[in-house]
Amino acid sequence: MPQTQGVSSVKLYLAYKDVLQVDDVSLLKDMRVCRERGLRVCLHCENGDVIRQLVDEARAAGRLSPDQHAATRPEPVEAEAVYRALCLTEITGCSLYVVHVSTGRALKLIREAQRRGLPVTAETCPQYLLLDESLYGLAGFEAAKYVMSPPLRRQKNQAALWRGLADHSLSCVGSDHCSFNYVGQKDLGKTDFSRIPNGAPGVENRFGLLFTHGVAAGRLSLTDFAAAVSTNAAKLFGLYPRKGALAAGSDADIVAWDPVRRAIISARTQQQNADYNAYEGMEQIGAVRDVWLRGRRAVRDGVVQPGPLGEYLPRQPVKSGEEIGCFSLQ
Ligand SMILES: [Zn+2]
Repeated sequence: MPQTQGVSSVKLYLAYKDVLQVDDVSLLKDMRVCRERGLRVCLHCENGDVIRQLVDEARAAGRLSPDQHAATRPEPVEAEAVYRALCLTEITGCSLYVVHVSTGRALKLIREAQRRGLPVTAETCPQYLLLDESLYGLAGFEAAKYVMSPPLRRQKNQAALWRGLADHSLSCVGSDHCSFNYVGQKDLGKTDFSRIPNGAPGVENRFGLLFTHGVAAGRLSLTDFAAAVSTNAAKLFGLYPRKGALAAGSDADIVAWDPVRRAIISARTQQQNADYNAYEGMEQIGAVRDVWLRGRRAVRDGVVQPGPLGEYLPRQPVKSGEEIGCFSLQ
């Protein structure tokens, strides 16, 4: 197996033209290399050429407010890119992980590809499960807090994404945490939506929101919850069973979750380094009591303990096709 220095995934973009976007030929070639070297391709699926054209048209027409972010990235822009990526997966046999799936339509394409045996897995994020496009109607510049890509969608997509977690066509819930501040960063686009930095903070709330609206609401079993927030990511990205399992020989990474406590989510009380919270005012059922990181106490009675945290872990290469047995559809 060629050496990849413990790297077993890359993220590529079909959006962000002239910045990050790869064209189809580059993606085809990259997928071939990744398949050979045991890397999973994580792909941002939105058609960047179409978005660029829609953005140019909006600006030329003087439509410059933050709600235009969503208007220039409509749902088919995601579905088209997902379908294109699935076709290249079929041609190359490369393992594909579709990041931050936001629509039922895109998920349907992914599920159908999984049923045909293609090595494709996918994630969604709390913002697509819980927030919707009506937030772009907020007065003033408030909507800029929700400028992220893909944008928030029509509410009916939420039920489809919850179903995807329950039937395992979605393997993981990521945060897509991108903590631009409202003051000093988001306001770069005050007079032009296309200059608003894309992304929102959320890493701190992923676990609690999924517990509250998944487990406590009866949509997800505790087992599926643990798989979606931890185990499946460890398996897909080459860290299992060191991570993602409570077992002899695994790292002692343990969260003790108090399911009774309740809290109101607020930027005033958050730990993450941002000046707003996209879920401000929402109730969370349960709270972190203690966290052990490699056996060392990282949170004690809800209080973060100072000390060294992350360390580099070389990961196992991906074997294309192994995700099929791992995440059989129900
Ligand atoms: Zn992305």
